[in-house]
Amino acid sequence: MLGEYELRCVNCGRTYEADPWTIVCPHCGGLLEPVFRRKPLGVSWALFRTRKFGVWRYRELLPKVRPVSMGEGGTPLIKVDERLWIKFEGSNPTGSFKDRGMTVAVSLAREAGVRSVICASTGNTSASVAAYASRAGMRSFVVLPRGKVARGKLAQAVLHGAVIIEVDGPFDAALDVVMRVSGRESGLYPLNSINPWRLEGQKTLAFEVVDEIGVPDWIVLPVGNAGNISAIWKGFREMKELGLIDRTPRLAGVQAEGASPIARAFKEGLNQPIFTDEPETVATAIRIGRPVNWPKAFRALRESGGTVEMVTDEEILEAQRALGRMGVGVEPASAASYAGYLKLLGREISDDDRVVLVATGHALKDPDAFPFPEPVRASSVDEAVEKIRRLAV
Ligand SMILES: *Cc1c(COP(=O)(O)O)cnc(C)c1O
Ligand SMILES: [Zn+2]
Repeated sequence: MLGEYELRCVNCGRTYEADPWTIVCPHCGGLLEPVFRRKPLGVSWALFRTRKFGVWRYRELLPKVRPVSMGEGGTPLIKVDERLWIKFEGSNPTGSFKDRGMTVAVSLAREAGVRSVICASTGNTSASVAAYASRAGMRSFVVLPRGKVARGKLAQAVLHGAVIIEVDGPFDAALDVVMRVSGRESGLYPLNSINPWRLEGQKTLAFEVVDEIGVPDWIVLPVGNAGNISAIWKGFREMKELGLIDRTPRLAGVQAEGASPIARAFKEGLNQPIFTDEPETVATAIRIGRPVNWPKAFRALRESGGTVEMVTDEEILEAQRALGRMGVGVEPASAASYAGYLKLLGREISDDDRVVLVATGHALKDPDAFPFPEPVRASSVDEAVEKIRRLAV
């Protein structure tokens, strides 16, 4: 298994034989990145396009495993106007982009004989882990920040049979728990984005965008633990190295003002985040104070000539409402893409740039995020008919 890859530490540069259980560098604790030992042969758009649109269309660029799959990826790229598209990740099986990573990491885990998986989560990872673990016949444990997980996501974790552990504190505390308890000895396989095989799956979003509209000028996405921005950049980097594209887009990360360790550092020209122990935002999916994937994310920003923007909760909710009125239903974290785009337009992003916004998760994930206006009430059919007639004129 995994013979086509080796794992390289992004911190010290040491390389290791690829093994599903090697999650961080055994030498320095740094993040690991799967790299191909040899250039994969015979890859071309023509080959890819003989297959169904989705994560496994690009299987030459993924671990060679028997997939635990429910049709991840292949999500709609909704055209807003001549220059703007929304990659609607809410169409994934559990309603967020996390499924792209989970299909790959859970497939590997199954082949490695794993019986139980674990994750910390702001919600969507737990929904995805619970579903894919069940599909693969494994037990799942999800560690959540108490009181800070949107109802739809919690409901999914329950429905798919996860054991739920709630801790007091932010997501970062939940992740500490996972890092302490997971490993070969406990047999608990960690499925957070620190797991490099999840990011292998998530890089396919980049492939799909290029497959449909070529290389855009910008990709704009929300940044929490910073796994997705790292994964998407890896996708673009690999396509360039393989000659599948001849240029790469710039990446724009967006963080909520109350949870902006990377955006703040970027604005001050620092080369590492300004961590916070008390992140706060309505966009619970990105309510993270200590993003573990920051070294990969900083590299993605540097190499792509990218940027990071900060948006307020009000701007996020306004953007969510605006997208809703376009027919596009996203959860608050995903609306941060659009809010950030509006801020960057006319500055870093110019009017004639082609831009893809990543809408990371579905609106139904978090039905409590927006206010419900008083409905029009009627106590009889006649009264309802009468009121509608009056409203419709
Ligand atoms: C996980 C998640 C994010 C953040 O992604 P990272 O890889 O942690 O940066 C953003 N939006 C939604 C909806 C998510 O579920
Ligand atoms: Zn190292």
